Amino acid sequence: MNPDNYLDSPENIHLVTRLLELGKSLCGLELGPYLTSLVSAVTELIVCEAASILEVDDDGDQLHFLAAPQIHWEVLKSVKVPVRASIVGWVFQNDQPAVIQNVKEDPRYFKGIDKAINFTTHSMSVVPIAFHGEKIGALAAVNKMGESQFTENDSVILETVASYAAISIMDSHLKTDAQESQTILSQLNRMKSDFIAITSHELRTPLGLILGHATFLRDIIPDNYRSQLDIIIRNAVRLKNIIDNITRMDNAQTGLTSLQIRQISMQTLIEGVMIPFHDEAQQKNISMHFDIGPGDFLVEGDESKISIAFSNLLRNAIKFTNPGGHVAIVLAQLPDYVTVSVIDDGIGIPSKDLPHVFERFYQVESHLTREHAGMGLGLSVAKVMIEMHGGRIWAESTEGKGSNFTFLLPLKSGQISSVNQPPSS
Ligand code: ADP
Repeated sequence: MNPDNYLDSPENIHLVTRLLELGKSLCGLELGPYLTSLVSAVTELIVCEAASILEVDDDGDQLHFLAAPQIHWEVLKSVKVPVRASIVGWVFQNDQPAVIQNVKEDPRYFKGIDKAINFTTHSMSVVPIAFHGEKIGALAAVNKMGESQFTENDSVILETVASYAAISIMDSHLKTDAQESQTILSQLNRMKSDFIAITSHELRTPLGLILGHATFLRDIIPDNYRSQLDIIIRNAVRLKNIIDNITRMDNAQTGLTSLQIRQISMQTLIEGVMIPFHDEAQQKNISMHFDIGPGDFLVEGDESKISIAFSNLLRNAIKFTNPGGHVAIVLAQLPDYVTVSVIDDGIGIPSKDLPHVFERFYQVESHLTREHAGMGLGLSVAKVMIEMHGGRIWAESTEGKGSNFTFLLPLKSGQISSVNQPPSS
């Protein structure tokens, strides 16, 4: 074919059109039918008796057929061709084409295929199939028809078709790999959820007993032992919070969490959640203020989930504020939303960590040197709980000065929040 005027004859126009068609259908067909269409196109374009596509086995020693003429497919699909003792194997290994006009004179000729399908091979033109340097297999055209021999033009056509074959084989492998990874991922996810469900159940029962008995004992023992029981109770509650957060996070991820919507007063909710924190704040000499703006603060939502989000923010504010510090809770009403801010003048968060604090297991302090206990789950749980309501949560902070965590909730359930940016404060 003359590259300067390759559309100079009806044959060449047909050839180019056919190759373009094969290129176009590359993404449209499954691997098997597509490769079969390639070998029949090769037979037609090169005018030869047969063509086939072979791929190397995983162990690299043998090649197997991916496509061959329909009449031989049933037999050839299970025939193996040795890489080190065949012409296609040589082409594959050396990543070079080979044109053999008389195979009987070639010591690499492998008789096994002809025997299997009762066929006689005279001549072959074979090109490698490779993708970005990765050897995949070979494309072979067999027995040029009539008196003629395989030409250089035939090799060009074969190389073009081989590049289509390479792309479709790699594409199919990638799809299979992606599906397998997805299956493994789902299995691992299920195992993780089972593990979390079983462990948290097994931990919760003895923990409930410890808390129950410790609380009972605290009320009846002499005053001088009470502080020891307070330590037991405080740490048992801390363990319970960790277990609850892990379970909540997993339930939300696996879709097991649903909302029990009813109308709730945010003011009552906040006051209720604050009660158990008063003692802790007092012990650390931290003052807590609840600041309410004008509004009725009635929200359609799931009380327990909003309480969890708010209590996780409040727990952090007290935890990360030094003795003598202040924590303010501010409830405000916008036209369609309420906002709740938990503001402290504690240790603050470095600006490089701030964008990550809502990620699961993220902690600013290194787990080796940190002073504050925790799993890095409280904020991610709060985020999930608020976003389930169509709300938003965000943090502003200055290291050494303090933090402001705010969440915004729509007043009506099902109302999608159009507020993407934190309202300027
Ligand atoms: P943890 O359970 O470890 O507290 P969180 O998800 O609640 O995990 O918080 C993640 C990290 O964000 C914390 O470890 C802490 O470093 C930082 N953080 C959260 N709230 C505050 C706050 N009010 N002040 C300073 N740092 C905070």
